[in-house]
Amino acid sequence: MKENGAFMTFNQFKEKYEINTDCITYIGCVQAIKSYILKTGLTIDNNMSNHMIKTLKVIYSGQKGARLYYEVLIQDANKPKCCEKWETKLNTDINWNTSFKKIQKIREIKLKWFQIRLVQRILATNVVLAHMGVEKDVTCSFCGKERDAIEHIFWRCEHVKRFWEQLQTVVNNACANGLFVNLNESIILFGHDCSFKSDDTFDLIILLA
Ligand SMILES: [Zn+2]
Repeated sequence: MKENGAFMTFNQFKEKYEINTDCITYIGCVQAIKSYILKTGLTIDNNMSNHMIKTLKVIYSGQKGARLYYEVLIQDANKPKCCEKWETKLNTDINWNTSFKKIQKIREIKLKWFQIRLVQRILATNVVLAHMGVEKDVTCSFCGKERDAIEHIFWRCEHVKRFWEQLQTVVNNACANGLFVNLNESIILFGHDCSFKSDDTFDLIILLA
């Protein structure tokens, strides 16, 4: 930065520090810092570095144990964007703590990644693929009628619903505790709903299904 706190141009930067880099990388770094400044509400008045940065202050504060760091990490109470989107889409409140705890418990890495993508809404449905120009059709590949949204392909599609009905019959008949299990959208998508308490085995069955 220059003395007044403004960013140097690429040429000024190169001249001063003699670092071999390209303009795009430099601008990328500057943009990243600018958006960080905006996000954290920092103000920059000059190019002097703080004699002790916030993180070091915490580390040198003398407290022992990991609690201190843990508290810093869990401070961010903002819900991920996907949560709001799901709640609007499904018009219901979802216990996200339970959803994310269930994801943490998944051991198989591919299944875990799959469930993360589902909850974060980053699965490549036909809608997403059409947006990227890979697919032309945004409708569901199974029924060909409805929009290929995540909630559609995993629960609402008539073809998929038949599969869940069959699975529910199997669970109701074969499992002693499964007699009253009534699958619904929330259980299929997030692994739980407020109506019943599942165990790890049940969670795995739903995930695999
Ligand atoms: Zn469909």
